[in-house]
This record gives sequence, C-alpha cells and structure tokens, in this order.
Amino acid sequence: MPEHDRALGMDRPITRRDFINGVSATAAGALLLPHWSLAMEAAQEYAPERAQGYYPPALTGMRGDHEGSFEVAHTLRDRRGVDLPTVSHTGETYDLVVVGAGMSGLAAAYYFVKNAGRGVKVLVLDNHDDFGGHAKRNEFRHNGKLLAINGGTLNIEAPARYFESSKQLLRDIGVDLDRFNAVNAGNRALYRSLGLANAHFFDKETWGADRLVVRENGAETSGRGAARGGGYPAEFLARTPLSAQAQKDMRRLYDKTDYMAGLSPSEKKNRLARMSYQDYLLNVAKVDKQVLWFFMRFGEGNFCVGADATPALFAWEMGQPGFDGLTLEATPEGVLENLPGPQHGRQRPDRGSAVHFPDGNATLARLLVRWLIPDAVAGTTMEDVGAAQVQYGLLDRAGQTARIRLNSTVVNVRHDGDAGSAREVIVTYNRGGKLHDVRASGVVMACWNMFIPYLVPELSGSQKEALAFAVKGPLVYTSVGVKNWTAWQKLGISSVSAPTMYHTSVALTEAVSLGDVEHAQTPDEPVALHLTKAMSVPGHPRKEQHRLGRAELLNTPFSIFERQIRDQLGRILGPGGFDPARDIIAITVNRWPHGYAYTYNSLYDPMEWVFTSTNSRPNVVARQPHGRITIANSDAGASPHTDTAFAEACRAVGEVLERRAMPIMTPSPGRD
Ligand SMILES: Cc1cc2nc3c(=O)[nH]c(=O)nc-3n(C[C@H](O)[C@H](O)[C@H](O)COP(=O)(O)OP(=O)(O)OC[C@H]3O[C@@H](n4cnc5c(N)ncnc54)[C@H](O)[C@@H]3O)c2cc1C
Repeated sequence: MPEHDRALGMDRPITRRDFINGVSATAAGALLLPHWSLAMEAAQEYAPERAQGYYPPALTGMRGDHEGSFEVAHTLRDRRGVDLPTVSHTGETYDLVVVGAGMSGLAAAYYFVKNAGRGVKVLVLDNHDDFGGHAKRNEFRHNGKLLAINGGTLNIEAPARYFESSKQLLRDIGVDLDRFNAVNAGNRALYRSLGLANAHFFDKETWGADRLVVRENGAETSGRGAARGGGYPAEFLARTPLSAQAQKDMRRLYDKTDYMAGLSPSEKKNRLARMSYQDYLLNVAKVDKQVLWFFMRFGEGNFCVGADATPALFAWEMGQPGFDGLTLEATPEGVLENLPGPQHGRQRPDRGSAVHFPDGNATLARLLVRWLIPDAVAGTTMEDVGAAQVQYGLLDRAGQTARIRLNSTVVNVRHDGDAGSAREVIVTYNRGGKLHDVRASGVVMACWNMFIPYLVPELSGSQKEALAFAVKGPLVYTSVGVKNWTAWQKLGISSVSAPTMYHTSVALTEAVSLGDVEHAQTPDEPVALHLTKAMSVPGHPRKEQHRLGRAELLNTPFSIFERQIRDQLGRILGPGGFDPARDIIAITVNRWPHGYAYTYNSLYDPMEWVFTSTNSRPNVVARQPHGRITIANSDAGASPHTDTAFAEACRAVGEVLERRAMPIMTPSPGRD
C-alpha cells in the first residue's frame, strides 16, 4: 500500500458505507436521495417526476449521461428499428413537439410560444431525468448551506456577440448581465485578494516526484497577455523539474524568433493550418520535449483533443506562444466566428467578458423553464432562481401551454403520410420501457445530428450522410463538494493545471453568488471544486479520438473516478492539510460522451469549411427542413456554444412557422 494511500484513508477498499453513489455517508442524510424509484414502482402510471423528493440536481455519483438515459437509444442504434405495432396512442396532439430539452430544445419552445402565443400547445421530450441538456446543475449541501455548480455548460461566453434574437431571449427570461456583474465585482476579486494564484502540478509518474509549483506573479502564459510579453518567468521555471535546456526553450518560445523565415505570411498561415501545434513546437520551433508538457492539452477546451490534433494556426489565433516573430496579420473579425472555445475562445475585448452563474448556464435553463411553465420554478427574478427548487411534478400537466416530459427517449418521428402533404407528424417515444406516441403539426429535432437518421428513417440518404458526419467530442466535468478550502489558502492557489494526471485541471469554482446561492467568503466555509477531463487519445485522428474516448468513458465506472479523484486531490492539496477522507462532502462526475458539437478543423476538414460559411458544409446540408420536421441543436451550427443552440432553435422554429403560414423568423444579426 503506497504511503499516500494510507494517509488518504485509502488503506481499505472504498465501500458503499463510505460513499453511496458519490455521497459521503455522513452527508447523505442531508441530501435528497433518489427514493422516487420506490414510489415509481408503486405508481400505476410511470411518472417518476411526480414522486415526492424527485430532484435530480441533488443526485451525486455518475451524472451527465446517467444510467437509464442512453440504453434505449443504443438499442435503437444496434437494432436499427423499433417495433411500432406495440405503441400505445396517448391521443395527445400538439402544435409543436420538440425532441430534446437542452438549450436548443427549450429555446425552440420559447421562440414558438413567443411567436404563436400562449394559446398553443408544445411538448418537449428528453431522455434524461433533468432538463437543460449539457447545461445541468449539480447541488451539494453541508450544514444547511447550499452549493450549486455547473455540471456542464460553464458560462455565457462573449455575450456581446450573441445574436440579437438570443439577446432578446435572455432579456425575456429575466437575465440582466450588468446587474449580475455589478453584484459580483467584489466576489470575483476574492481569490486574488487572498493572494491565491494558479499553479502547475508535476506528477511523480511523469517527473519522478510530485511537485506543486505556484506561478506567483500571475504573468499570462497564453492568450493576448502572453503575446504582450508575459510568459513563464525564469524564476518560476527554476522551481520546476524542467531541464536547463527545456527552461531555455520555454523562454525562447515567448521571444520574437521567426521560425518560418523565408515564407510569405500567407504561406506561413497555410502551413500552420495543416500542421498540429505539437508538430509546430517540436519540429518547427524545435523545443525540448519537456516543454510540450505545458501545451499538450491545448485544444481540449475547444476541440476535445489536445495539441497533437489541434491546428497550429488555431494556436496562433488563440495567442499561444511561439508565433510572435512570425509577424502574421490578425485574421479578420468574423472569419473564425464559429471556432469553438467554451473556455478559451472568443477572447477579443469587444465580445464582452464571459459571465458565469454559480451553476453555469443551468441558470438559463431554469429561467427558460420558468418562462414556459411559470409555476414550476417559484419566483420572479434572476436572483431568486439561484436557490429555487424546481417542481418537477409540474412540468408535464395537461392543459398548460408547454409541457416537458423527461425520462422519455424518442425512437421514431414520421409524417402521417407523404412528407410534402401530410398535416401531422407522429412522434414515438419510450418511457418506462413502454412505447407511446403523440401527434404534432410540427416537430423540431433539437437532439444530436448523428442520431437523427435513426429517428427519422424517411430522410434522404444524402441528408442522413450529412447528419452522420459530425462526431461529438467527449469530456468530463467533475464537481466535488468540500467542507472548506483552507488547504488552498495555505498553498496560495486557486487553480491547478496537471496535464498528465487523471483530471487535467482542478480549481475552486469561480467566486460568484446568485441570490441565496452565496459563494463562501472565507476559507473555512464549504465550497465546490471543478475538475475537468477531456477524453482525448493522442496519436489518433480527431474523430477516432472522440470514438475511443467515448467508449472508454462509458466503460469507466464511478468507483474508478472516485479513487482517482481522492488520490489526485490528496496529492495536490495534502501538503496544505487536505484530507480527502475527512473533507469531501460528495462527488458528482458529469460524463458527456456526446459533448461538444463537432467544429471544423483545418487538419482534417477542407479549408473552406473552416474559413467560410459555404453551404457545402455538412451541418448546412444536414439541417434542411423535411416536410414538417425541422432541425435545431448546436450540431446544426457546427459550434458548441449556447448562442448557437439558441440561434439554430430560432431558425428551426422559423421554418415551422413558415409551414404554418406565420411570419418567418431568422436569427437577427448580432455579429456584424
Ligand atoms: C461540458 C460542456 C461545457 C460547455 N461549456 C460551454 C460554455 O461554457 N459556454 C457555451 O456557450 N457553451 C458551452 N458548451 C456547449 C453548450 O453546452 C452547447 O452548445 C449547448 O448547450 C447545446 O445545446 P443543445 O440543446 O444543442 O444540445 P444538448 O445540450 O446536448 O441537448 C440535447 C438534448 O437532447 C436529448 N436527446 C438526444 N436524443 C434524444 C432522443 N432520441 N429523445 C429525447 N431526447 C434526446 C439529449 O439527451 C439532450 O438532453 C459546453 C458543452 C459541454 C458538453
């Protein structure tokens, strides 16, 4: 038994006694456990959401695409069909059925009701036990204090660049970013005011011994700040285990050397577009291999693959080091608009600073649900949604304008007759192991592109091929509730980069409050930690990495994650006094095997797909309306952003309204 394992309280197997699906046994009493399954069995109708205590945000353990959410879909994929004669007809008829209750599906319901009025009837179906899609909320409680954290979508990125129709949506549901920012100005400075900085953790498996190295002066090492002369100071590098040569090369990366001298700027850009950042660093800038350790994960926050599969041109665009001497002209505004970057992208100042609610964009999902079904989410303001408990039992009631039916996987969508003339679409879904169908005058597929061919067999072969093109990027966001953060204060850190460990980043959540969800003001109060892991498999082409990573993710039980998390937090924070066995309240692993929408990447896709908005791109071919069925979701915009999900919903609903002979909606410009 390694010494640190014993110190972590890991000298005996982790049992259910210690952790009940991620919840510390001592904390379990304070949480709402999934006892609805018992109520469910007793109920005649399958309606788990109506059971007392049904509250998915408080569930811990393996979440995200949780057990029970994907099995029906995978069976459909494997069998390529459903037994429609066994369907029970609900007799329900809607003006619109939306497949998927993610940001795009909820927004589709909003755009439809906003345009057609509250007299219409809309049904939103989703396979998960909660709404929001990737924008999910995790909750922990300790000594009565509520901690809320994002289980997926982190923030409203580049709000100034949101489409006007998305900005209007935010206003309508009660979001006031200026007010939120004003209230949180002091909070955001909390860690800095305590002198906490970023750090790197050099793990013993890679470097021979564990070592935490704090970057005290806070010099920027990537992004535009680095380009202005930041980088890693010699004093910092001297404290790392890097060889003298690697330290020298690291400094060199931030100087003005032109590593492509002799080529014209356009020749340089063309070569950078077709070369990975890893290739550039090792074979063009010729840095020592140890230097790559710092940059190997670059690209994961954007493409879900690291520097080996991320174009060097993108690295330059994002302000990574090594390009300063190349004197390249900035890419014109708009050209790279759709490039992904939930964490790093869209950094230009006129795009507005990213806004992070305590539970990320789950706040938007909850506000959208309140707009659609007011009594399901108590309160009237952006602030009071912070601590509001959603009444899941009120989401799906006869007679209301919008109904949200969770735990329901759609398995078939077809016109009742010929797509060109049919007046209705029949939507079949599996709920509680039984097939049911509803009818609608229009359907928005706000789910995932690659699954739509299985759901809508009547689509043409070329459209199915285009829908199947995209492979979503898998990734993991892990939330850990801890009783205090005194170890972080003692070590002087607020975030840690650990490129060669299980989770490659570990951080205190951003210090922001929303209403009664108040961030800890002192280190002895409970707080949530945010850990990330991209399921990249370096050395394979990008899509192959996504497929391999997804398979690994689905095959990794929570117990493996838990052991890795306890080990990693113990090694990084142990010297500050952190004891995983004592200090962890609960763990929630949010696995997203189908995470980021696929965005074009110049290493693997035609340049015109990356740099122009040509109609030959697969996402454009894929999203064409088919009769009364239209296609929303972020895949349709080939960009993993919330505003893309909104904009595609707006377009798809416009197409539905067009078929109902109502005014056509298109996303109104906001990015000129
Ligand atoms: C971990 C993570 C972090 C992110 N961070 C950010 C960020 O900080 N900022 C940002 O702007 N964007 C971010 N994104 C991207 C953003 O979350 C997405 O672009 C957006 O939320 C996608 O919304 P969507 O509705 O298109 O898809 P989803 O959120 O995936 O929703 C689609 C829903 O449809 C359901 N569905 C699929 N098939 C069926 C079926 N057959 N029947 C019923 N339901 C079905 C799915 O299960 C899902 O619930 C992040 C994404 C991830 C995964």
